[in-house]
This record gives sequence, C-alpha cells and structure tokens, in this order.
Amino acid sequence: MLTGKIAIVTGGSRGIGKSIVLSFAEAGATVIAVARNEEKLNEVAAQASELSGKVIPTPLDISNEQTLTEQIDKTAEEYEKIDILVNNAGITRDGLLMSMETEQFDEVINVNLRSAFIAMRAVSRYMIRQRAGRIINITSVSGIMGNAGQCNYAAAKAGLIGLTKSAAKELAKRGITINALAPGFIETDMTDVLPDKVKEAVKPMIPVKRFGKPEEIASTVRFLASDSASYITGQTIVVDGGLLM
Ligand code: NAP
Repeated sequence: MLTGKIAIVTGGSRGIGKSIVLSFAEAGATVIAVARNEEKLNEVAAQASELSGKVIPTPLDISNEQTLTEQIDKTAEEYEKIDILVNNAGITRDGLLMSMETEQFDEVINVNLRSAFIAMRAVSRYMIRQRAGRIINITSVSGIMGNAGQCNYAAAKAGLIGLTKSAAKELAKRGITINALAPGFIETDMTDVLPDKVKEAVKPMIPVKRFGKPEEIASTVRFLASDSASYITGQTIVVDGGLLM
C-alpha cells in the first residue's frame, strides 16, 4: 500500500504514466501528475476520483529546468515531504544517424534524460533529509540493446541506466532506493505510430507474442515504489514479455 505517500509522476497524462498515476492513487497515494496537456491530466484526475488516493493535475513542460525545479520545491513545501519520484515522461524523434538533426538529438536527450537528472537532483535534497525515498526511472530495452533509427532515444535511455546506478550508489546509505524499469513494446500512443508492418514483424520476436499493456508496467513500478522493494536498488528491471532474453 502507498497510503499517505506523496508521489510525483512525469508523463502522467497518457500511456504508461497514466497507468502508474492511477495505480498509485488506487494504493492510496497523493500523486502529482505532470505533463503538458492540462485537459488530459484533468481527465486522469476525474478517473481517479473514486480511488482512495488523489491525483493533482500539474501541467508543465519538464524540459524547462526552472519550472520543473520550482514544482518539486512547491510540492515539498506543501506536503512537507516527497516519497516517490517516477521519471516516466519520454518522447521519440526517430531517424537514421546519418540524417539526424542535432536538434532532434538534443530534444530527446533533454526530455528523456536531462529532465530526469534535474528532477532527481531536486527531490534528493528532500529525500536525504527524510532519510527515505524511492526513485524509478523509465528507460527502455532500446537503451540496453540499441535500435536502428533511435540513436538519440537509445543514448538517452542508456544514459538513464548509468544515472540510476550512480545515484543509487550515492544515496543508498540515506535510505533512498533508485531503480530503472525497461519496458519492451507497450500499447501506447508511442508505439501506435509504428506502421502495422513493423508491429507484425516485431510480435513473433516477443516470446509472449504480444505487446504489453501499460498496466503491466505500472504494477512493477508500484512494487518498486512500495516498502516491499526496500532491498532493491541500482537495478534495471526488464518488463518486455521475454524480448531481451
Ligand atoms: P506516451 O503515450 O507517448 O506518453 C508520453 C507522456 O510523456 C505523456 O504523458 C506526455 O504528456 C509526457 N511528456 C512528453 N513530453 C513532455 C514534456 N516535455 N513535459 C512533460 N511531459 C511530457 O508514451 P509511453 O509509451 O506511455 O511512454 C512512457 C515512457 O515509457 C517513456 O519514457 C518511454 O520512452 C518509455 N517506454 C515506452 C515504451 C512503449 O513501447 N510504449 C517502451 C519502452 C519505454 P504531454 O504530451 O501532455 O506532455
């Protein structure tokens, strides 16, 4: 259970992040759900209205360092603690190395990696004082195995794994655990844009022969955020239907 816990989840308006937000709220947490689209965040909060926890729609662009840091400080001030941070927001701007624009590379690094660093640095100040905290970074199998057309995305996701391990080593003695979760192919807007031909070519490579559902990622994130996961830190948990075996 996450009763009374204060959680920040980025990318909480859609897909995997929305499932994490609802799962945390179901477990009794107050969840600061961050994304750019306010309307979609309000819909998630409305969906959570019957649950034991609460969803606070928090529209902001995580690539803006100042806004992101201010929101984290504001949350800590208002609730007097931050128990859980999930760096989930992510984007793709795919293209082959030879033709990838520098802006395409920078944008993905900024949203997928730099913002996670900024959020972790900001929450760590409070978590160190509390001598407790849980940070979960959503990486990807692309960050482990690489993927043609995703030099920017795979670099950001591999970077997240290094960030996770280094910060986990720094903060373990302060009661803070930091883990990464690497999803395989999950049914969200991000994979919806893939041509049907690509989706059908990928499925036979997945031992369970299907894409995962956002809820199948959220359940592992909820476990990592709970007291039950107190002895797990610095790990990358792969949730991919067996793709990477
Ligand atoms: P999605 O459906 O495209 O949702 C992305 C979320 O991130 C949305 O809530 C979006 O909200 C938010 N976001 C994007 N840019 C943002 C920004 N600058 N500021 C604030 N919020 C921002 O993606 P998803 O599939 O759920 O992916 C979630 C995470 O899992 C990502 O890190 C992704 O890389 C990772 N992942 C996904 C898969 C997969 O197969 N789906 C596989 C491996 C890893 P707004 O647009 O409203 O801002």
